Amino acid sequence: EAALKDEEPKETLIEETEVVTGQEQHHEFKTETKKLLHIVANSLYSEKEIYHSELISNAADALEKLRHMQLIEQGFEATHPLEIHISVDKEKCTFIIQDFGIGMTEEELNQNLGTIAQSGSKAFLENLEKEGGSSMSKDKIIGQFGVGFYSTFMVGDKIKVYSRSARPGSKGYCWTTDGLGSYTLAEAEGVAVGTKIVIELREDSANFASKFTIDSVIKKYSNFVGFPIHLNGTKV
Ligand code: ADP
Ligand code: MG
Repeated sequence: EAALKDEEPKETLIEETEVVTGQEQHHEFKTETKKLLHIVANSLYSEKEIYHSELISNAADALEKLRHMQLIEQGFEATHPLEIHISVDKEKCTFIIQDFGIGMTEEELNQNLGTIAQSGSKAFLENLEKEGGSSMSKDKIIGQFGVGFYSTFMVGDKIKVYSRSARPGSKGYCWTTDGLGSYTLAEAEGVAVGTKIVIELREDSANFASKFTIDSVIKKYSNFVGFPIHLNGTKV
C-alpha cells in the first residue's frame, strides 16, 4: 500500500494510433524553405526552447480559429474540448503536441508547412541577406524574428504532422519530413480533428523529452495562453 502511494501519478501519453492509408506524395521544399531549414537545423542558437512557445502559440491560434468558426458557421462541432495536450517520452525521445483546433486540409498542409509565406520566416530570410549571414547574426535573427513552425528543426530531425480540418467532411492527413529537402503527404485514418505534431528529438535536444524540463518551459512561456495545457495527462 505505502509503496503504491509513493509512486508517481499515472501518466497518459499521447499515442500515435493514426494509420497512413493513402498513397504518399513526395514534394520538394521550395529553395528558400530548404535554405531556412538548413540554417535552423544547424543553428547554434542557445535558446532552443523557443520552439516550444512557437508550437503552443500555433495550437492556441488553431483553437481560437475553431472557436471563431463555431460562432459564424454551422457544422464546426468540436469533437474534443478546446485544449492543448503535450506528451514527452524519455525512452522514445519524442515530444508530441496535439490541439483540437481548426486543423489543416491537404491544401493547407502544403501551403502552410511547405512554403515560407509566413511573416517571421520571411523577415528572417530578408534580414539574413542584409546581415551577410555570419552564424552570429543568424542566431540573433532567429531570436529576433522567430521562425515559427520551422523552429522545430532546432530540436528534431524527424517531424510528423497529423492534421484534420474541422471543416465538415474533411479527411485526415499525415505530413512528414526529415527537414532535408522534401516532405511527404498522405491520407491517414484515425486522425482527430485538429493537429498532432510528433517530433523525434535529436540527441543534443533529448532534454526536451524530460517532463520536468517541459513543465518549467510551459510555465515560463505559456502563462497567458487562453486554453488549458496538459502535460502527460495532467493539467499544468
Ligand atoms: P505563423 O504562426 O506566424 O503564421 P508558423 O510557421 O508558426 O507561422 O505557422 C505557419 C502556418 O501553419 C500557420 O499560419 C497556420 O496556418 C499553420 N499551422 C501551424 N500550426 C498549426 C496548428 N497547430 N493548427 C492549424 N494550423 C497550423
Ligand atoms: Mg506561429
